[in-house]
Amino acid sequence: MSRTPLQTSLDAAEVWFLTGSQNLYGEETLRQVAAQSQAIAEQLDAASDVPVKVVWKPVLKDSDSIRRTMLEANAADEVIGVVAWMHTFSPAKMWIAGLDALQKPLAHLHTQANVELPWGEIDFDFMNLNQAAHGDREFGYIQTRLGVPRKTIVGHASDPRVQRELGTWQRAAAGLAASRSLKLARFGDNMRYVAVTEGDKTEAELRFGVQVNTWGVNELADAVHAASDADIDVLVSEYEDLYDVVPALRKGGDRHESLRYGAAIELGLRAFLEEGGFGAFTTSFEDLGALRQLPGLAVQRLMADGYGFGAEGDWKTAVLVRIANVMGAGLAGGASLMEDYTYDLTPGDELILGAHMLEVSPSLTTAKPSLEIHPLGIGGKEDPVRLVFTADPGPAVVVAMSDLRDRFRLTANVVENVAPRHPLPNLPVGRAVWKPAPDFQTSAAAWLTAGAAHHTVMSTAVGVDVFRDFAEMAKVELLVIDESTTLPDFQREVRWNQAYHRLAQGL
Ligand code: MN
Repeated sequence: MSRTPLQTSLDAAEVWFLTGSQNLYGEETLRQVAAQSQAIAEQLDAASDVPVKVVWKPVLKDSDSIRRTMLEANAADEVIGVVAWMHTFSPAKMWIAGLDALQKPLAHLHTQANVELPWGEIDFDFMNLNQAAHGDREFGYIQTRLGVPRKTIVGHASDPRVQRELGTWQRAAAGLAASRSLKLARFGDNMRYVAVTEGDKTEAELRFGVQVNTWGVNELADAVHAASDADIDVLVSEYEDLYDVVPALRKGGDRHESLRYGAAIELGLRAFLEEGGFGAFTTSFEDLGALRQLPGLAVQRLMADGYGFGAEGDWKTAVLVRIANVMGAGLAGGASLMEDYTYDLTPGDELILGAHMLEVSPSLTTAKPSLEIHPLGIGGKEDPVRLVFTADPGPAVVVAMSDLRDRFRLTANVVENVAPRHPLPNLPVGRAVWKPAPDFQTSAAAWLTAGAAHHTVMSTAVGVDVFRDFAEMAKVELLVIDESTTLPDFQREVRWNQAYHRLAQGL
């Protein structure tokens, strides 16, 4: 069977830069419009905070070409969104059919060619050419009237803030494109009796485009047990190069066979995922079939390679991990399954210790993880191998997805990863220790009020702004807990959102 390695980079993606005008202005002005909009597109494309290629398109002057361009954008897989700017006045009824046809994310760039007004030279030719100040207001009207989800970015293309905002939107659009083409393999069902990891897979395919399907875990076990000794040898050597492997697991160590089995799990899992074109997967410790260990090391490394993963059948978190991996492509840091595990409740200095049974991605650390083996209290299988480390201190965000029966809700908390207060010599898993914004009490109370899950994706590569843009373009609810959150306001927002999101789906 052919195998397709997973693509996580943004290199193949592009966004189209569309400039609105009309035929009224004559050839000379329209030539200037084209030249200036091309220069803006090139400036944005060259900016280091703009990760996805910006491709300039010829100036749009009538309904038919606008509609055709949008249809072409829809049809081109590499196009993850369009940026629109009205350099002159582009009567917005010309945009109705095109905006109605557009199925990809839209950013409305409200800018102009010049930074300063040429006060001494300004004449009416200049006024004719540079009318985005009202041309974009006409465009804003029609977008609002049609209910088009979009991000509005205001400022000159040379402003680093504008470039950052565009880059943020591009990363969100790349996440949406990735979820729309995502195939997720579930091995086993959800953990028995657990509520929040359940969800409507049909609605998820409609909303996010992700295909969620189940395979028998013994099909995976067959792939694992088919791994060759030669391939296992190579992978075990790679482990010994990359990690501090405890003596018992090294060649000649009395647990070395367990490490070889861990390598076989990685080889089999990777082969299965690549053969099926999967970008995310779940496992279940209650349904391991013929697998001798709960996959730990393999899952950790696959997450770090860009795969989405959710434990205990949690496909919703697996989707988030995959999206976050794509959104953070090329940036320092990473994305991982995370679980709020236990607290330090020292008053005024509370900390959350997050971890999982095994499955935390080493992309959260720049230190060298240690590769260890320890018993696992549940599951009744052999001791699993796993990477042990602590996430780097620094800013992070945790995001959860819950199914509220009529819709999905994303809940995000801005957090700060910190160094553990004391060493953790007896904790045999990858973990993160963080302080949630705005403070522990507000964060936890708001999280519980939102009905947000105990599984999250933690991203140390992208912040909450990317998830905001993602939620807007995916038309999914997002509740944010950050420095500005107060509990009474948050509770009101939750109530209002119930009404808004039901109405927004149509009556
Ligand atoms: Mn869990």
